[in-house]
Amino acid sequence: MKAIEERNKQLEIDDGKYIWHPFTQMQDYVKEESIIIEKGSGCILTDINGNEYIDGVSSLWTNVHGHRKKKLDVAVKKQLDKIAHSTLLGLSNVPAIRYAKKIVGITPKGLTRVFYSDSGSTAVEVALKIAFQYQQQARDGNPKKKKFISLYNSYHGDTIGSVSVGGIGLFHSVYKHLLFESIKAESPYCYRCAFGKSRPGCNLECLSRLEEIMNAHAHEVTAMVIEPLVQGASGMLLQPPGYLKKVRELCDRYNIFMIADEVAVGFGKTGKMFACEHEDVTPDIMTLAKGISGGYLPLAATLTTEKIYKGFLGEYEELKTFFHGHTYTGNPLACAAAIANLEVFEEEKVLDKLQTKIEHFKQRLQLFTALDNVGDVRQCGIMVGIELIADKNTKECFPPGARIGHRVIKEARKHGLIIRPLGDVIVLMPSLSISIDELDRLCDITYESIRTVTEKYKG
Ligand SMILES: *Cc1c(COP(=O)(O)O)cnc(C)c1O
Repeated sequence: MKAIEERNKQLEIDDGKYIWHPFTQMQDYVKEESIIIEKGSGCILTDINGNEYIDGVSSLWTNVHGHRKKKLDVAVKKQLDKIAHSTLLGLSNVPAIRYAKKIVGITPKGLTRVFYSDSGSTAVEVALKIAFQYQQQARDGNPKKKKFISLYNSYHGDTIGSVSVGGIGLFHSVYKHLLFESIKAESPYCYRCAFGKSRPGCNLECLSRLEEIMNAHAHEVTAMVIEPLVQGASGMLLQPPGYLKKVRELCDRYNIFMIADEVAVGFGKTGKMFACEHEDVTPDIMTLAKGISGGYLPLAATLTTEKIYKGFLGEYEELKTFFHGHTYTGNPLACAAAIANLEVFEEEKVLDKLQTKIEHFKQRLQLFTALDNVGDVRQCGIMVGIELIADKNTKECFPPGARIGHRVIKEARKHGLIIRPLGDVIVLMPSLSISIDELDRLCDITYESIRTVTEKYKG
């Protein structure tokens, strides 16, 4: 017992001493007691002291069927007995081929080619470079089309290219001199409409503005990048029904590629396998990561149409090659996990079973609107954002220094729930395998934590 306590103490010290945590103010991190996870099973995470927590954000939106999912464990172990890694640069491997075939079979019709990488950011980076290079060299390309349109409040990753098309001031403004210019359109953030309108009856003014932008810039724009249905990292902002389909139509009308960034929304989180399915949309390029390997290993894919792929074919000396490739691209272990991930969807009819959970979640979430400081509750499938505000009538925010969102998640931890806020939006995104009981606990703890923290703040 003593030895374990000592080991744990040392781990805590070394965590503070050696690790620079992402998106974390380290000055606070060292002061606040951290949680060090040692194990997981289903939707439960266990820390080094044996405390259990519900994994309320599916290990940052990645975990699909729960932790220690037998089928995925076995798939990775079996692959490990063959080979852990070999390169995809000019060489191939079995799981990468099998997965590419499988994913092309279930993604929107028209997407035929798979380019692997290892994170959402790289998948987006690849998409941007493909859309750019296509115009430079394809027979029907137009070298003047070099720019991108994206939405305010969008998030596409942390690398320089993906930040350039991102639209979250808090994360992105410090890097502005490093970025390439992109054209931003207002996002459909209906709770705080940029045009002061409200739905229904707004006539989707945001789309009219988008069309004006496309009309003015089509000659210099190669692609529009969009998170379909839900802008995740800015606080689960939901696009009104019909919005995405209209974006597709506008892209067609102005001869602009549509890049659908399904990194957050893909793999069942919206209730369908891919968010684009809700609006019957086929993008020209689609990016996948987060849930792709069931939350097991780093993997990402950028899918394109045959037309785009063909723009890169030519004699070697024409230099039409796509000069891009990360070292661990198409890693066999990750691809084996990704195959098993899809097999679980099929074998266990995951999406069918998910519908009752989504409905149950919806009913539980309705109660939250009664809380004084809950301004908006947004849900799409299993993805939820609860926006906390200081005043319901004015929609005034809490002062940033109050760190209300952060306090709520700290409170939730005390009661056995791990969640992570986006500013003052509380995010809930459990894995698809969560049970109704666990879902109830997740809602109960979240509700009580919001109530406790906001009452304490006011009192
Ligand atoms: C998380 C996310 C990314 C970036 O993925 P990483 O794996 O963190 O690089 C890109 N796009 C969207 C929509 C995301 O939610």
